[in-house]
Amino acid sequence: SLSLSLNPLQKHTSSNEVGVEGGVRLVMESAISARDRVGVQDFLLLENYNSEAAFIENLRRRYREGLIYTYIGSVLVSVNPYRELEIYSKQNMERHRGVNFYEISPHIFALANNSYRALRTERRDQCILLSGESGAGKTEASKKILQYYTHICPTRNNTHTIRERLLQSNPVLEAFGNAKTLRNDNSSRFGKYMDIQFDYKGAPIGGHILNYLLEKSRVAHQNHGERNFHIFYQLLEGGEEPLLKRLGLEKTNPQHYHYLVKGKCPRVSSINDKNGWKVVRNALTIIGFNEDEIQELMEIVAIVLHLGNIQFGEDEEGETHITTGPQLQYLSQLLGVDGSVLKEALTHKKIVAKGEEMISPLSLEQALSARDSLAKAIYGRAFTWLVQKLNQSLAFKVYYSSKCSSIIGLLDVYGFEVFQHNSFEQFCINYCNEKLQQLFVELTLKSEQEDYETEGVRWERVEYFNNKIICDLVEEKHKGIIAVLDEECLRRGDASDITFLEKLEDSLGGHAHFVTHKMANGKIRKAIGREEFRLVHYAGEVNYNVSGFLDKNNDLLCRHLKEVLCQSGNHIVSQCFHADELMDQRRPETAATEFKLSLAKLMEILMSKEPLYVRCIKPNDAKQPGGFDEVLVRHQVKYLGLMEYLRVRRAGFAYRRNFEVFLERYKSLCPDTWPNWRGTLPEGVATLVKHLNYKPEEYKLGRSKIFIRFPRTLFVTEDALEA
Ligand code: ATP
Ligand code: MG
Repeated sequence: SLSLSLNPLQKHTSSNEVGVEGGVRLVMESAISARDRVGVQDFLLLENYNSEAAFIENLRRRYREGLIYTYIGSVLVSVNPYRELEIYSKQNMERHRGVNFYEISPHIFALANNSYRALRTERRDQCILLSGESGAGKTEASKKILQYYTHICPTRNNTHTIRERLLQSNPVLEAFGNAKTLRNDNSSRFGKYMDIQFDYKGAPIGGHILNYLLEKSRVAHQNHGERNFHIFYQLLEGGEEPLLKRLGLEKTNPQHYHYLVKGKCPRVSSINDKNGWKVVRNALTIIGFNEDEIQELMEIVAIVLHLGNIQFGEDEEGETHITTGPQLQYLSQLLGVDGSVLKEALTHKKIVAKGEEMISPLSLEQALSARDSLAKAIYGRAFTWLVQKLNQSLAFKVYYSSKCSSIIGLLDVYGFEVFQHNSFEQFCINYCNEKLQQLFVELTLKSEQEDYETEGVRWERVEYFNNKIICDLVEEKHKGIIAVLDEECLRRGDASDITFLEKLEDSLGGHAHFVTHKMANGKIRKAIGREEFRLVHYAGEVNYNVSGFLDKNNDLLCRHLKEVLCQSGNHIVSQCFHADELMDQRRPETAATEFKLSLAKLMEILMSKEPLYVRCIKPNDAKQPGGFDEVLVRHQVKYLGLMEYLRVRRAGFAYRRNFEVFLERYKSLCPDTWPNWRGTLPEGVATLVKHLNYKPEEYKLGRSKIFIRFPRTLFVTEDALEA
């Protein structure tokens, strides 16, 4: 349900934008020309609201004028400007403080302020959901929102550090969890949900971060034109000499490191790694890491780099051995593990059968793959450790305020992405985006319309695409893609990526959103490789290559290596790999299932809060300021469901509230309902609106809710309350 403050039909117009009063257009001569130039700031005002062309044209006009934000009711649509705009200053934050959503032109600060007001006045937890494809501007928007809260909210004693820490958590997480991809120079490679906690006076007093599936494979491999995580380059470029020396990283050119050259693009013009280092280093200190911890964290970065440079050879007997002595030495020093033990663990595997340990040599190929798994495991777990550390530092301390903390959640996950080659990682990322879209469908398109029906309010249905069918295809018990994948992972014998594909064909053949080479015909067939399956996502078609799916889903690190890590002298490593794990005989959840379960939990969290949406649009693929690729934008407008949402909003009511809530809030405006209404709720509400002079066309009473068509009606009522 949407609250009053979420409905932004603008009461006042800003300098050159066209506003509306209660749904009635303000027609002024100058306004008409302004409107031609800059379009409307709320799509609800579009005359031709059924026309996609008009919708796109409005976005284009505004974008050309540097107006990147437009509303559809309470949903904020944002188009990435790919240049610095002067609209995020402190003064501008001040300007938004306490101002009603509808009084000011669309802005991310207005949305942030709006959710803050709702939190304060209605005491309901909020969440802001940022969606859009990779590079559309979600992470930037989430940072702006956090900056707004940390700047604008009231201060209390001792909350200074928390504010700083909240802000500084971003550069740290981005250094370790973001990377340059073909789609985005600063692409989030993990999902992030952050709670910002406020005390009863509205001061931010703490935070908590949940992280989702980091794309670990990037540690050991990057596609052409992409990079590893930023931190590697930052440390090499910016690290102080003595530090680098201690870490054995005297060679500071990324070209020297096997794990940094796969994508053949160590340097990117838009990224300043040297400066990035300073920022991260400073952020870690502010967050509360001591020098030892920073040192140990950087040791992990170095361990990964050295691991990548370990090479293997085969001797005459076909035994695998390590050919790079110095690297092994660095590693053994940094890990705090005896060199010979490490050497053996990297070239042999240990099997425990019937209580007996057996050691057998690894083939060259196996050794390489074990090395990469080790690097990924160390980095992946260190990332989780980092998030835990951040959480300890952000945890709100009881002495600030014992009770009453309310929350605004910020969700910023990796956006939908399609590459030439898509693997398990894209599969997970795009599945996650399906879930988010599903939430939007459920909470806006579906629930809003169902509400009218259950309330018995007359209403013309708006058709929309419900992507539940795709979510089910991926996650359904027993027959969904993840279930089939898990089954193949468990099955011994001849299970392989290819048998997985065959099983998928068996169980999903004929599904409207699933196609393979074998199943397709004609032109489509040529476009799908023999080792691929295609999913028809809400946001477009993606071919996934099954190669590596089983391994990545199993995500196993051999026992031998785990044992070694448990003994590590590096405290972060030894905390990440605990001896208990070796004792545990149970099989851990597969990567996909763990991801699925964590997403399900996330959906629960989000459902328990009042959602606000920012729909981010990427205007061109070249990351160019000014470029507005109409085809690209139209595609996003379509799959984000913006036209459908606009239709639902246009046809519907701006505001709805339970009788009880409505009566409680406004009862003081009517002598018959004040201080207490003794009759039934519907009668009370009817009495109240009659007294308030609501016209019949302005509202409808359902079974348990009142629906108000125009925001203006409510603005007037709210004003009366304040008077
Ligand atoms: P991903 O899903 O890959 O993480 P994303 O949606 O988080 O993508 P961002 O990293 O937020 O995308 O944005 C990509 C780039 O676009 C930014 O690094 C920045 O250069 C530019 N950008 C995005 N939003 C803005 C903005 N409001 N002002 C200026 N530049 C922006
Ligand atoms: Mg991002």
